Parts: sequence; C-alpha cells; structure tokens
Amino acid sequence: MKYFILFGPPGAGKGTQAKLLVDKYNFKHVSTGDLLRKEMAECTELGEKAQKLINEGKLVPDDVVVGMIRKTIKENPDVRGFIFDGFPRTIAQAEELDSMLSQFGHKVNSVISLAIGDDVIRERILHRAKVENRKDDTDEEIIKTRIRTYHEKTEPLIAFYKGQGKYNEIPGERAIGEVFSDIEKLL
Ligand code: AMP
Repeated sequence: MKYFILFGPPGAGKGTQAKLLVDKYNFKHVSTGDLLRKEMAECTELGEKAQKLINEGKLVPDDVVVGMIRKTIKENPDVRGFIFDGFPRTIAQAEELDSMLSQFGHKVNSVISLAIGDDVIRERILHRAKVENRKDDTDEEIIKTRIRTYHEKTEPLIAFYKGQGKYNEIPGERAIGEVFSDIEKLL
C-alpha cells in the first residue's frame, strides 16, 4: 500500500492534481476538507461542530481529522494506495499518521508539495469561489485567516518531512498539465 501526501497552501491545486492521479493510477483520493463538507451537508454532529471553525478559516481539532483518516484507511483495504489532500495540516496530525501507519506496517512514501505565493493563493481561492459554493472562499478576511493558519500551523511540516527525506517541491504556478507531469515523474 502506498501513501502519498499532496501538500501546499489552500488554492495550490492539490484537489485538481489528486483527481488526475486517481483517474490515471487508481489511487484513493482522501480530502479531509471534502469529508468535512460532506459531514456538514448531512448535518451530522461532527459536521455541525466543524462548521463554525471551517467558516472562520480555522482548523478543526486534530483528533477529528485523524479519526476520519483512520476510518477511511480501514474501509479501503483493497486500493492500490492513498493520495492525502489537505492532510496532515499540523505536526501533531503528521505524528499521528506515522504512528497509525506503523500499526498497519505501512509508511508515508512521499510528500509532493505544490509551491505558490500568497498573492496567487488569494486569486485562485477567489476564482474557485465562483465555481464551488464555499463560504470560506468568498470572504477576504476568512481567506487571510486561512493563509495565516497555513503559514503558522502547516508550513512547519516542510521541515518535518525534509527531516524524514520525503519532501519534494514542485513549482505550482504553472499549467495543470505541466504540474501533473512533474508529479508523475516523482511517483
Ligand atoms: P480544504 O478543502 O482542504 O481547504 O479544507 C477546508 C477547511 O476544512 C479548512 O480550512 C479547515 O477548516 C478544515 N480542514 C480540512 N482539512 C483539515 C485538517 N487536516 N486539519 C484541520 N482542519 C482541516
């Protein structure tokens, strides 16, 4: 079983690239953002708890997302591998993931990071707001909070995965096909 992490700030193109990888290589795409939005749409208890934090551009608690990831891995024993998108987002989540995978005798194979600047993040999120109906994509203040949260809580993962020798960075401010072909080379 292979485990790949698509890493990068909101709007980097992780979801777009993950979908291309799923179509071509038959991996299971796991987006914690999508899973949380599904819980919200179904008005589950978890969804209602997460809603306020998501709509403010803040992270939901680590144990909530780690629990969703554990469930997804257990429910998909026959897939070739997993592409995590938007997870892990904190050092604590990355440590939990390592310990969870080691219980199954597995490990993270590689982290593929899509690098883009803050101005492009903003533009892309605002563009996405027109395509997808996401409250956290339309409000400038919420977008700012998400970018700040990324720098404070998620960016430290770069050093974490560099330390494990698993970190690969790709310039993300290019055409979708160019980024995809770089990702394929890394896989
Ligand atoms: P995304 O679709 O990945 O941009 O996620 C949308 C929102 O869901 C984020 O702004 C967070 O509030 C929440 N979220 C998604 N993934 C995580 C995660 N791994 N840890 C904490 N919160 C998350």
